[in-house]
Amino acid sequence: MKIYEMSAGELLDKKENGELDTEDILNAFRERIDEVEDRVRAFITVSEKEVSEELAEMETGGELEGIPLAVKDNMSTADMETTCASKILQGYNPPYDAAVIEQIRKQGGVIAGKTNLDEFAMGSSTENSAFYPTRNPWNLDHVVGGSSGGSAAAVAAGEVAAALGSDTGGSIRQPASFCGVVGMKPTYGNVSRYGLIAFASSLDQIGPLTRNVEDSARILNVISGHDKRDTTSVDREFPDYMEFIKEDVSGMKIGVPREYFAVDFDKEVEKTVKDSLEVLQEAGAQIEEVSVIEPEYALAAYYIIAPAEASSNLARFDGVRYGSRSAAEDVSSMFTRTRSEGFGEEVKRRIMLGTYALSSGYYDDYYLKAQKVRTLIKDRFAELFSGYDLLVSPTSPSTAFKIGAEKDLMEQYRADIFTVPVNIAGIPAISLPCGFDSQGLPVGFQIMGPHYGEGAILQTAYTLEQKLNLEQKPEL
Ligand code: GLN
Repeated sequence: MKIYEMSAGELLDKKENGELDTEDILNAFRERIDEVEDRVRAFITVSEKEVSEELAEMETGGELEGIPLAVKDNMSTADMETTCASKILQGYNPPYDAAVIEQIRKQGGVIAGKTNLDEFAMGSSTENSAFYPTRNPWNLDHVVGGSSGGSAAAVAAGEVAAALGSDTGGSIRQPASFCGVVGMKPTYGNVSRYGLIAFASSLDQIGPLTRNVEDSARILNVISGHDKRDTTSVDREFPDYMEFIKEDVSGMKIGVPREYFAVDFDKEVEKTVKDSLEVLQEAGAQIEEVSVIEPEYALAAYYIIAPAEASSNLARFDGVRYGSRSAAEDVSSMFTRTRSEGFGEEVKRRIMLGTYALSSGYYDDYYLKAQKVRTLIKDRFAELFSGYDLLVSPTSPSTAFKIGAEKDLMEQYRADIFTVPVNIAGIPAISLPCGFDSQGLPVGFQIMGPHYGEGAILQTAYTLEQKLNLEQKPEL
C-alpha cells in the first residue's frame, strides 16, 4: 500500500514499528498534493511551510503526531487565510486558531491546508464556492457533495490522511457519502465551535472525515471536549471513543424509518443500503421497521431556521472588521456595496429568506412554526431512542451528480432530506461507504443515534465496514 493510501491509524502503527518516520509521511502527502491537486482542486490554501519547518514546529508525543489533516476553510487558522469560499473574506487572516485546530496541533497533527466549500457552507455540491468547484476523485466530471466537499475529496484523493468538516444540515455526511469516505456529525455540543465561522448556530457542529471508522473515533477523541469559549459546549465526561471500535452488534436494536424509505429516491442507492441492512442482521443486530415524523417536515423547518440564523450571523460581514471592502463615498453605501459585491447568489438568497422569516408579521407564521415543528421532531426521536439503540437510512437520495447539472432550487434543497432531521434534533450520525452504483460511484449508509450515542454508532459502523470490506479506490 502507498503511504498516501493509509489511514491515520496505519501511519501511526508504521511509525511505531519503525517502518516510517514523520518526514516520509509528510513528504508523501505533499507529493500526492502536487500530483493530483490541479485535477481535484480540494484546497483553497495549501500550507506553504516546508516539511522541515512543519517538523520543527510540530508538537511531539501526541495522538496524531505527524499526521497531515485538511481543514474546511470556515475554521479559523492563525497561520493561513480563512475565506469560507467567499469573496467577502478574501484576504482575511484570523488572529487565532479555532479550538479544534488547537486540539489537533496539541496532539501533533499537521494542518496541510484549508479546503474548498460551498460559500459559507450553504449548499450540497461545493459548486457554490466563489472560486471553483472541487472535482470528485471517483469521477472528475461529478461533484463532491457539500458543503465540506473539499475535505471529503482531499481524503478520498489521498492528499491528506483525514480532515475536518462542519455539518449544519448534512455537510459532513453527504460529501463523505459522495466521495466514499467516513463522515461523522457528533452530538450538538460535543465539539467546540470556538473559531468556526457560524452559519446557523443552533445546528452547526464540527466533525471528522476519515478513511475508516477507527480514524473517526481517533479524531473524535482529539476534538471533543468541554470548552468555556463556546457556550453550547457540554460539560460532561467524554468516553474514549476508540473503545467502541470492536466488531459486535449482537443484540443491537436498529430501527429503519419507514417514512425515509417512502421518499422517492435512487433505486440503486436503496438496494445497496438494504443489502447492508441484511449484513448487519446477519451479524446479530435486530432490525425493525419504525415510524418517524416524515423527513419533509424537518426539511421545511430547516430551510426557515437555518436561513434565519444565517441572516443574523452574516450581518457581521460589513467591510469594516473582516476581509474585503468595496470603495464608496459614504459608510452606508460602503456596507451595501461590500455585501452586494462580496456575497454570492445563494448566500444572498439565504439572507433574504431568513430576514423575511424573522420580520414582524411573518415571524409567527414561519419562524415560530418551524421551531414548534423542531420540538415535535426532537421529541419523536427521543421517544424512538427509548426503544431502539440506533436508526439507519441512506445518507443521500442519490450518488454524486454531474458538475453543472441543471437542478432547480427545490430539488437541490431536497437532497438534504435524510441528513437534516439529525441536525434539527441535535443528535449524532455517521455516513460510511456501503457499496457502489452502476457508474462506480460510492453510496453512503447513515447511522443515527441518541444524544451522546456516538459509541454505539461507531461500533455498528465499524462492524458493517469490516463485514463489507470494500476495497475499491478511486483511480487518479
Ligand atoms: N446543504 C445544506 C444547506 O445548504 C446543508 C449545509 C450544511 O450542512 N452546512 O444548507
